[in-house]
Amino acid sequence: MSDSTRFKPGKSIKLADYDPADTGGVKNKGAAEEEIAAGIEKIADLSFRLYAEARRSVLLILQGMDTSGKDGTIRHVMTGVNPLTCEIVAFKEPTTEELDHDFLWRIHRAVPRRGKVGIFNRSQYEDVLVVRVKHLAPESVWRPRYGMINAFEKLLTQNDTTIVKCFLHISKDEQRKRLQARIDDPHKRWKFNLGDLADRRHWDDYQQAYEDALNECNTAEAPWHIVPSDKKWYRNLVVTRILLRTLTELDPHFPPAKENLEGIVVE
Ligand code: AMP
Ligand code: MG
Repeated sequence: MSDSTRFKPGKSIKLADYDPADTGGVKNKGAAEEEIAAGIEKIADLSFRLYAEARRSVLLILQGMDTSGKDGTIRHVMTGVNPLTCEIVAFKEPTTEELDHDFLWRIHRAVPRRGKVGIFNRSQYEDVLVVRVKHLAPESVWRPRYGMINAFEKLLTQNDTTIVKCFLHISKDEQRKRLQARIDDPHKRWKFNLGDLADRRHWDDYQQAYEDALNECNTAEAPWHIVPSDKKWYRNLVVTRILLRTLTELDPHFPPAKENLEGIVVE
């Protein structure tokens, strides 16, 4: 598979150069869905082997503006995967207990244990995104966090966690449509907060904060992928491919039996 969503560590990117409506040459939804279905079967098998092996873990981080599809991606990519083999965690506004600790405390407690595929819906990056844009902390507090995040991610990778980070990139106009749908559709209203409109007013500030986070924290150990997400089917396909490739490269195996079982017959 092409590596077009990934960019070289050390290279500085501009988000404006990436088209959120890109479909990478994939013809249509039907073609994508076929590949996704086949990909999920393989992801399920590989995740089960990773679980049985119980030595290493995978952490998939999903970040993106409201309505970019963090929940939808999890639903599509993990449907059909044995729930025993994965752990999904969503990070909301920190609780008072969480605020009484350093910003990585709640994150570290939630990382996947050996054998699991962990998915973060939002993550440590909120502390250099919303915190920066909404001035929840001064620059002297949030700026050093890029380095802290890089060091933290290095610690995890050196402890056998493979990290993949996906930025779900949507356009401002696509967000408008999706927010409007959340207002108009009674089945979607539960997802809507008036605060989403306030965040939308800071669209440019968020794009800048994302661009900086991507550039500052795109390490060889824990690379960022920019996932075009205006088309949901392409977004799902890209994340499926990324997860499948990560697991394929890990090549997990069922471990040998704990004892010599040769010739044992159960009576
Ligand atoms: P949602 O993902 O739509 O359920 O919303 C979760 C909300 O929690 C978003 O508005 C996030 O920006 C917010 N949030 C997550 N982490 C933090 C954080 N560390 N500091 C402040 N707000 C956060
Ligand atoms: Mg929301």
